[in-house]
Amino acid sequence: MQLKNLDPVLKSYLIRAIRDSFKRSRLYKQVKKLARVEKPKLKKDGTPAKRPEVFYRCKMCSKLHKDKDVHVDHRDPVTSLYTSTNDLTIEGYISRVYCNLHNLQVLCKPCHAEKTKTENKIRKSIKKSK
Ligand SMILES: [Zn+2]
Repeated sequence: MQLKNLDPVLKSYLIRAIRDSFKRSRLYKQVKKLARVEKPKLKKDGTPAKRPEVFYRCKMCSKLHKDKDVHVDHRDPVTSLYTSTNDLTIEGYISRVYCNLHNLQVLCKPCHAEKTKTENKIRKSIKKSK
């Protein structure tokens, strides 16, 4: 069944559920692991802490960021630049979210926002030219 034929409330519920399940998936954790950098942490008294501090390297700016400041991004976005999500089936949507590992990368929030902005500009210009 195509997404456009679903009740809008059910559609948004399903998309949220698919995205949430992705965030708990092994694939998601694999991507995060590849970008993970640990740094030894010192306690206030200067002795090493039991656990290191964990950072993630952004694929775009190469800087290190804390977990709360990064996103897992689909290089080729889930919402394709050229076709509407509405034309996808549920299975098609799931396979775009759960894509190949090589299509996934860790980005910091500012870089992710910048990428999304660029993608939206492209979508807009494609829409205009149709
Ligand atoms: Zn970045």
